[in-house]
Amino acid sequence: MTSASTPRTVLVTGGNRGIGYAIAEEFVAQGHRVAVTSRTGEGGPAGALTVKGDVTDTASIDAAFTEVENELGPVEVVVANAGITRDMLLMRMGEDDFTSVVDTNLTGAFRVVKRASKGMLKARFGRIVLISSVVGLYGGPGQANYSASKAALVGFARSISRELGARGITANVVAPGFIETDMTAELPEAQQAEYKKSIPAGRYGSAAEVAKVVAWISSDDAAYITGAVVPVDGGLGMGH
Ligand code: NDP
Repeated sequence: MTSASTPRTVLVTGGNRGIGYAIAEEFVAQGHRVAVTSRTGEGGPAGALTVKGDVTDTASIDAAFTEVENELGPVEVVVANAGITRDMLLMRMGEDDFTSVVDTNLTGAFRVVKRASKGMLKARFGRIVLISSVVGLYGGPGQANYSASKAALVGFARSISRELGARGITANVVAPGFIETDMTAELPEAQQAEYKKSIPAGRYGSAAEVAKVVAWISSDDAAYITGAVVPVDGGLGMGH
């Protein structure tokens, strides 16, 4: 353990690659009991339990939690990380392009957090971390669906904070900027170069840099932080 934080049972959705994988790795390194969900049931980092779970399917999430609870005990820290993009200009965006992104990024977080909250209420302890994006509050051309889904996580976290704050449960949003993962690799090169120019830090971030912040906001040290939006974006979204 690098801090005085109590070892916890942690569940990270979409922990088979990218930011979720790095978050799970960090919790493992800090000595916690860690599980990840992936759609295939494979692919989490060493030292973590990988279970099958699709955030668009309530029954699948329920089964994933039950498996984790049986193996590692009640989930005390949940990180709703699974997310998708389906970028296109509003004029071309079909209803399914919008609702499928919302279903994964927002309703998916709802399914996961609702299931997690049962055990947290019983334990009178919990850490809920929602992975949003700088694009949630900054906006992004071609990302009306994604941006809306990520902005909504802020209201979601703040309502949970107000409902569950007195029960020892915190709910915070971590809003990464541009992080080197499969998701950003898909962006056209010209757009990537343009984004780098507007980032005060002058570079993309790493998944590990996001993971450190998620682990800290889930730690004992962060007990009095709830309803916050913590940017990890090299200054890109200053002020949100
Ligand atoms: P990746 O595309 O690398 O990984 C996305 C993860 O989400 C994968 O594990 C994927 O699983 C999982 N996932 C997608 N849909 C579902 C689903 N229905 N059920 C369960 N898991 C699912 O993305 P990143 O690591 O880059 O992004 C992780 C989070 O961080 C996302 O919420 C994203 O919006 C956010 N973010 C990313 C930024 C970046 O610059 N990369 C910036 C800001 C925010 P599978 O392998 O099965 O597809």
